[in-house]
Amino acid sequence: MADYDYDVLVIGAGPGGYVAAIRAAQLGLKTACAEGRETLGGTCLNVGCIPSKAMLHASEYFEAAAGGAMAAMGIKVKPELDLPAMHGQRKDAVKGLTGGIEFLFKKNKVDWLKGYAQFTGKDSVEVAGKAYRAKNIIIATGSSVTPLPGVEVDNDKGVIVDSTGALELAKVPGHMVVIGGGVIGLELGSVWRRLGAKVTVVEFLDQILPGMDGDVRKEANKIFKKQGMDFKLKTKVTGAEVKGKKAVLTLEPAAGGDAETLEADVVLVSIGRRPNTGGLALDKAGLTTNQRGQIETDHDFRTAVDGIWAIGDVVPGPMLAHKAEDEGIACAENIAGLTGIVNHDVIPSVVYTWPEIAGVGLTEEQAVEKAGGEKGDVKVGKFPMLANSRAKTNHEPDGFVKVIADAKSDRVLGVWIIAVPAGTMIAQAAQAMEFGATSEDIAYTCHAHPTHSEAIKEAAMAVTGKPIHI
Ligand SMILES: Cc1cc2nc3c(=O)[nH]c(=O)nc-3n(C[C@H](O)[C@H](O)[C@H](O)COP(=O)(O)OP(=O)(O)OC[C@H]3O[C@@H](n4cnc5c(N)ncnc54)[C@H](O)[C@@H]3O)c2cc1C
Repeated sequence: MADYDYDVLVIGAGPGGYVAAIRAAQLGLKTACAEGRETLGGTCLNVGCIPSKAMLHASEYFEAAAGGAMAAMGIKVKPELDLPAMHGQRKDAVKGLTGGIEFLFKKNKVDWLKGYAQFTGKDSVEVAGKAYRAKNIIIATGSSVTPLPGVEVDNDKGVIVDSTGALELAKVPGHMVVIGGGVIGLELGSVWRRLGAKVTVVEFLDQILPGMDGDVRKEANKIFKKQGMDFKLKTKVTGAEVKGKKAVLTLEPAAGGDAETLEADVVLVSIGRRPNTGGLALDKAGLTTNQRGQIETDHDFRTAVDGIWAIGDVVPGPMLAHKAEDEGIACAENIAGLTGIVNHDVIPSVVYTWPEIAGVGLTEEQAVEKAGGEKGDVKVGKFPMLANSRAKTNHEPDGFVKVIADAKSDRVLGVWIIAVPAGTMIAQAAQAMEFGATSEDIAYTCHAHPTHSEAIKEAAMAVTGKPIHI
């Protein structure tokens, strides 16, 4: 290896970076991973997917007990919230999983270079004052919260917070205003609503969950409203003032008009995330970013500079942990001379609310547009969870499954689900689409009874107008 320290040096140990490092080491490449955080696992394990799911899961139980869902099944309980203990189990989950990555690094002989890496050349970086050369460098530096001008986040004060602050609130706010009706805002808003907060979601667009199927967005809005969330759609936040322990937000109609104010005990700013490239000294490597601050790559995850690769939230595409992980595996395999591929057309996305919301592939709107704007070129089958025996028995009537297929070939183009276990159900749809399934393939696949997944089979049957239970 001449004067190289490593075959592969990964910058960032989130789900993209740590997975790439482990796969590279498994393939016999001498590998290091630089990470500036005190623990491995990136946004996902430390302040993202895992702690949010820990709070969602715990608050689901609380609401089931407090909100009457258990009483409906003959279980009478009067729950008492022990918020420090709930936070404790969140921290335990994070500690266990981030420690697990450290163990996997040791097991696979990946060196953890502790500190933030900065390029010093095309094949060299500096980490904590030490210089390293590597044949291949993978940029996996992830993303951070996008700031909103005029609304300054201060997680320590706990009045205007970002997602990290919203995971750690020391008490249940009286009124929480969530700025942004996307996945993270709805998940964290749901946590605090279940624990007793009044939650108002302010969204610039005319509907929540941008990017998802139109029917799903409308139905989700109805369900969250029924659960007690308030929505101010087509509204923009133009400023915020913290007065003691409260914030006063200034709101305006998105299309212009009279301003109004809204008082909150906690404001969660969740308008999106932006790629982390600031501290990398990309210019020293001869790299630039695109207009959105992302690093562009080809299909193999190569950047414009030979030997430098990029994956995860720092490159274009949905900012999702599983997308980052799959890119990490494929990128390491490409470096090792294998053929690493990620099918970006089949990346499922999930909102972990109650019920869950999940989708994979095209929305109906995208499918119609792709077909040249002709609605008849796309077939849609829908099946309500109300007619699914398991969902009905479990007192979980909300939601539906929607299968979108090409009218000529019957090939499945997209599947959208609102159902309590939608995040688990969507894996079947993703696999079917990966195998090029038709709606008929799904309709003729035997599904266990009674399961929520039977609704996928019925929705597939509905594509040809022949579901059984509606
Ligand atoms: C509240 C919340 C909930 C989420 N829930 C989900 C979910 O349920 N499912 C899902 O799929 N996605 C979820 N996400 C998104 C998910 O966390 C990200 O898509 C994922 O973490 C991206 O992985 P990554 O490896 O690209 O980057 P990251 O996880 O952001 O990791 C990048 C790492 O690089 C490090 N780093 C940055 N610069 C340097 C440098 N110069 N040198 C060394 N290290 C550096 C950072 O410290 C960080 O640890 C959630 C995000 C948030 C905020």
